[in-house]
Amino acid sequence: MKDNTKLLLAIAFAAEKHSFQKRKDEAGTPYINHPIQLALTLAQEGEAENETLLIAAILHDTIEDTETSPKEILQLFGNDVLQTVLEVTDNRQLPKQERKNLQVVNASKKSENARKLKLADKICNVNDIIHHPPDNWPIERKLEYLDWAEKILLQLKGTHQALENKLQNLIDEGREIFKTSNTLVAD
Ligand code: NDP
Ligand code: ZN
Repeated sequence: MKDNTKLLLAIAFAAEKHSFQKRKDEAGTPYINHPIQLALTLAQEGEAENETLLIAAILHDTIEDTETSPKEILQLFGNDVLQTVLEVTDNRQLPKQERKNLQVVNASKKSENARKLKLADKICNVNDIIHHPPDNWPIERKLEYLDWAEKILLQLKGTHQALENKLQNLIDEGREIFKTSNTLVAD
């Protein structure tokens, strides 16, 4: 059997780093559920043997959201993992709108692993927007998120067909659901 020690170490490391953080949903889901979901999505869509990608998926929000240094990741998981994580880490010094624009503009320039990770991140977040949405987001804001995710998807065309299809289907599903609930509210 393949040695999964590094992947399990990454899960333990990220769980510790995110331990005080919750998702924005009503239930206050532990944040670590999100990176685990990302890695699972990638494994289920044909990337189970891509250890660098699965570990980077588990760690993808540690530098952006927690007190984690690039050096820690380099020492424990090596340079390939670190570079992939850095590629999907936003610069938190920039205003939010600019960060969102940069994600669209820079998506196509990223490495193959970083592009797959981006697709999985948007798949999991769009799924959450539909099934476990952030507290108090009006439908307009959810629809805005779907539009933004679709702009990124367009930039990532040709990266991974199954992941792209999954994301497009979720965006379509979300639009359908939010359109219907808008109509119900209007009625
Ligand atoms: P986002 O709108 O980008 O929030 C979504 C992010 O939060 C996701 O990408 C995800 O990132 C994380 N997240 C945590 N929990 C959930 C969940 N349950 N479901 C989905 N995503 C979750 O960030 P901000 O709230 O910081 O707002 C930024 C931008 O939103 C502003 O610049 C503005 O453009 C827009 N905005 C729009 C408003 C409106 O009413 N139209 C109001 C206010 C802001 P990760 O993968 O990193 O966890
Ligand atoms: Zn994420």
